[in-house]
Amino acid sequence: MNVVRSLLLAGSESRWLRERATKLRFVRGAVTRFMPGETLEAALDATRTLGVGTVLTQLGENVTDLEQARAVARHYQDVLERIRQSGLDVEISVKLTQLGLDLSREECEKNLSTLVERARALSRWIWIDIESTAYTDRTLDIYRQMLAAYPRVGVCIQAYLYRTAEDLKTLLPLGGGLRLVKGAYREPPDRAFPKKSDVDENYFKLADRLLSPEVRAKSVRAIFGTHDPALIARIEERGRSLGLPPEALEFQMLYGIRRQEQERLAKAGHTVRVLISYGEAWFPWYMRRLAERPANVLFVARNLFAR
Ligand SMILES: Cc1cc2nc3c(=O)[nH]c(=O)nc-3n(C[C@H](O)[C@H](O)[C@H](O)COP(=O)(O)OP(=O)(O)OC[C@H]3O[C@@H](n4cnc5c(N)ncnc54)[C@H](O)[C@@H]3O)c2cc1C
Repeated sequence: MNVVRSLLLAGSESRWLRERATKLRFVRGAVTRFMPGETLEAALDATRTLGVGTVLTQLGENVTDLEQARAVARHYQDVLERIRQSGLDVEISVKLTQLGLDLSREECEKNLSTLVERARALSRWIWIDIESTAYTDRTLDIYRQMLAAYPRVGVCIQAYLYRTAEDLKTLLPLGGGLRLVKGAYREPPDRAFPKKSDVDENYFKLADRLLSPEVRAKSVRAIFGTHDPALIARIEERGRSLGLPPEALEFQMLYGIRRQEQERLAKAGHTVRVLISYGEAWFPWYMRRLAERPANVLFVARNLFAR
């Protein structure tokens, strides 16, 4: 793994650094590039101006008491209600460790079930983020459970993991939603491809499976969560060669990253959604964004000198 990426990912797990960095004005300023604001209102306002559908996620992970986890579930209930009232094309994506997975799997499932029930009442999709490999088995198990109760549940899968090709064998026949991403956590070389070129190649192999006619017949909602222009071009080309209409390809990107490409894809007729994160607990998430593109560190530094 690239040294800078490694250091940034290690930093994302450091409490010492989090406590200090989040107080610095120039860091807070730099964060706004990836986040329209800390509140739900800011995320909804951004949805109105983007002109494409969005997925909202409240930042936060690894909560340390169950009351916090219940508060997160209540927050997402409010979000679902606000989405209903606004009539905006918005979905939500949740992290299981934010719903209490570290503390009690049972409570986490209970919290998630309340959200799945509400999403079902509103006929909305609900997504489950995927975190580090410490949680992969439990996340996929819980996904399967929720999907049995309501078919519009989706989970994220990571192309950097060797296991994902195998996981797909059991996930694909279930239908539901699968959002393919490269993977954002620090993983050892016996679990994840250390070389970026191998991750990229595996991404395309997995994408190809998601596009196959057999999988499409199972009505899996496949999402390509990437900003990578080479991969996007290959997926578009594959879609064309399979005779798929442009809207059958759904791409998702993160707020603030490659906005012109988001517009180009939407103009080409593809389905495009932007994932908007909001909330106060942005530190580990922001460090993962820096690790994805260490050149972003220069952007933070420029913010320091701009003040
Ligand atoms: C919708 C969505 C949901 C996600 N959900 C999860 C999840 O649940 N679990 C998880 O582990 N990961 C998740 N991720 C993050 C993902 O794993 C990658 O870390 C991230 O998308 C960067 O990979 P990439 O495919 O864009 O390719 P890369 O090869 O990293 O980037 C390709 C190009 O995109 C641009 N780019 C990428 N990242 C940045 C950045 N941070 N800043 C500026 N430019 C950038 C650059 O131009 C870069 O050259 C999600 C990503 C998306 C888009």
